Amino acid sequence: MSFSSEVKSELLSISNEPCCMHAQCYGLLLFSRAFSDNEISILTENSDIADIYCAAISYLTGYITDPIETAGGKYKVFVDNKKIIDTLFEKLWITDSLSKKRINFANIQNQCCFSAFIRGAFLACGTVTDPEKEYHLEFSVSTKGLADDLIKLFDEYDPTPKSTKRSGSYTVYFKNSNDIEDVLAIMGATEKSLQFLGTKVYKDIRNTVNRKVNFENANLARTIAAATKQYEAIALIKERIGFDALPPELQEIAKLRYSDRQLSTSEIAEMLSESISVSGVNHRFKRLMNIAEELNK
Ligand SMILES: [Zn+2]
Repeated sequence: MSFSSEVKSELLSISNEPCCMHAQCYGLLLFSRAFSDNEISILTENSDIADIYCAAISYLTGYITDPIETAGGKYKVFVDNKKIIDTLFEKLWITDSLSKKRINFANIQNQCCFSAFIRGAFLACGTVTDPEKEYHLEFSVSTKGLADDLIKLFDEYDPTPKSTKRSGSYTVYFKNSNDIEDVLAIMGATEKSLQFLGTKVYKDIRNTVNRKVNFENANLARTIAAATKQYEAIALIKERIGFDALPPELQEIAKLRYSDRQLSTSEIAEMLSESISVSGVNHRFKRLMNIAEELNK
């Protein structure tokens, strides 16, 4: 099951107070495929959502209807009976045709009902991407008026959606992970909101670790490159003039590097017979490099 379907099944498991039930039914109907004088309908891949859509119609009008499975494996609920549609609009205090394309806030009475309404809207037209892949939650809305009203509704809360027009429909979306977490929580998907947060924290930690590993790998690569250069310089000195030609304080360090190019500077510092700092070791390597450079001229 996709993350989006999991969110929806959590939303479907929430039991509503009567005021919220009304708001959720309204959100679900308004944001589905059609909500007009001629037709009230939904087309969905999720049979549970088709069922709850039928339940919403029945809750508001008393009319019992069932989903039809389409040839494409989707579920369709379709009402074109004028009397039933009129009853429905009456119950939702919808009087003119314009208000069928806007949110009638009379149907959202209490603070609790805002959550229920958004929940209904999300069940009808929402999707959320798995946070492992991407941070994205959206409502695909049929008209600009509805998109604007939905954005206005979110003004009640912290998260601020963006909107865009895409092939005839309007998308109201969130890209910020904190916002998505909030929207999930507002709708009542507490479990999924926590899972979302958990995934985000895990990803953040993983990114930090990766950055650290990359940083350490880069340091290691630099160390190896430096040691290889030192080794090459010392091999040249050995070949041209021999270690005995070097001043005594450089002989020991040259032999150590020549014997093992993987030794770190601090390891070499510890291995030397006299006590010397890491920067002292580096300084001596620099002198060896200079000698090799002179020999190479
Ligand atoms: Zn309520």
